[in-house]
Amino acid sequence: MVSAEARPLAQTGGLADVLSALPDALARRGHAVRRFLPAYGFIDRSGFERETEEPAVPLGPAHVPAGFLSRREPGGVVTTLVENAELFGRASIYGPPGGEYPDNARRFTFLARAVCEWAKRQARRPDILHVHDWHAALVPLLVRLGRAGEPSPRTVLTIHNLGYQGEFPARELDWLFLSEAERRQVFHVDGIEFYGGINFLKAGIVYSDALTTVSPTYAREILTPEFGCRLDGLLRWQTGKLRGILNGADYTRWDPSSDATLLHPYGPETLARKADSARALRERLHLPASDRPIMGVVSRLAHQKGIDVLTNSVERLLEEGADLAVLGSGEQAIVDHLEWLRHRHPDRIGITIGYDESLSHLVIAGSDLLLIPSRYEPCGLTQMYAMRYGTLPVVTRTGGLADTVRDSPDPSHATGFFLDDLSPGSLVATVRRALALRWVDPSAWRRRQRNAMAEDFSWDLAASRYSELYAQLL
Ligand code: ADP
Repeated sequence: MVSAEARPLAQTGGLADVLSALPDALARRGHAVRRFLPAYGFIDRSGFERETEEPAVPLGPAHVPAGFLSRREPGGVVTTLVENAELFGRASIYGPPGGEYPDNARRFTFLARAVCEWAKRQARRPDILHVHDWHAALVPLLVRLGRAGEPSPRTVLTIHNLGYQGEFPARELDWLFLSEAERRQVFHVDGIEFYGGINFLKAGIVYSDALTTVSPTYAREILTPEFGCRLDGLLRWQTGKLRGILNGADYTRWDPSSDATLLHPYGPETLARKADSARALRERLHLPASDRPIMGVVSRLAHQKGIDVLTNSVERLLEEGADLAVLGSGEQAIVDHLEWLRHRHPDRIGITIGYDESLSHLVIAGSDLLLIPSRYEPCGLTQMYAMRYGTLPVVTRTGGLADTVRDSPDPSHATGFFLDDLSPGSLVATVRRALALRWVDPSAWRRRQRNAMAEDFSWDLAASRYSELYAQLL
């Protein structure tokens, strides 16, 4: 597998969770899995061993050295860091907060090139190269050009978010240093070319042997102009090789009965103890003690996540009687708006800006509702985590949210709440409906919590689907 993120080494979002749990689940099924990621400057190298060979990887007209540092993880998966101090020895994954490094095309061309070079040199070449998102999406193109050795491995591209495609000016193609004939082979409208420039994700879609995305509903949605981010036409053309495989939730990390970050673990039979986490959360976020319910948010602060709809309805949401607890990082305009709201309501709104894994557990455990008003959501993990913690998700009916949450008047069935549409009015109305249930019919509320806690989104199921796919490709 090849990716820009894998927890716990490098994480900005759900991609890193997938690159931790999926390889483990595949290893449990007997696959030998190695995951490659860049050797970022902030990664602790302890336990990694450097391979003696350090091949010079062609990058444009130059050759650039690639180090490979490997470590076998407890479940048997091997992590290999691809090292080049100039390209990857930096403080961030993609760029400074809110920005992109100007040489990202070069950095991620190098990643793909280095992995192919590594594969080519193995006595036992990998059967499958499974790559994730645009950062690794040049691998299928390079494999098609024979750069991973012959016979070529089969390739799988998983799209975790179609909104990020790796679009660059055509001159960035030069980092691949293709021959004239190869350039003609790939630089055209049915190849890597995209409106005169290049698009890494598009190359991956065209040249991979199979294509997956992270939920069945999102797999259908991306075929439409509304969700297709200008690639829907291509995806409709490639639909025969596309399938949606729902992500899982890693319950070794996300289970309230064994969660080491909680002072007071709880389970379906000890739900009253959830209140202890609410108290701890209030203290952490400097909110006064209160019995008011808490609406939690754990999210990248990005347009995709609909946080602007949330910020535009916050004052009306507070009138419904619940307090707000936000953990997030991302766009400055959203951060500023949230800070302004907290300034106006310091007793009702607690905010932490930044990436904080242990606090993310506390927000999810201590909240009553988790608000996820996403414009689109390929899969979404936090709603699955929230359900296991008896924290009911309030979500838009899109992508993986639609595939994992159930809302119905039948108390034996429901696990959360759907918005009718993505608007402040609808968000307020749905929170009102949720809080009314909690106050007026506590037993129905408890029932919903228990249903949610009993849901099982297992990685083993996802791994069996990927396994089937690999077998078909071979
Ligand atoms: P996405 O990948 O689009 O950001 P997901 O719901 O798939 O959304 O995954 C988000 C992951 O990142 C979850 O594991 C969530 O807990 C974590 N996360 C998001 N923001 C933060 C944050 N500020 N601090 C800690 N964890 C966060």
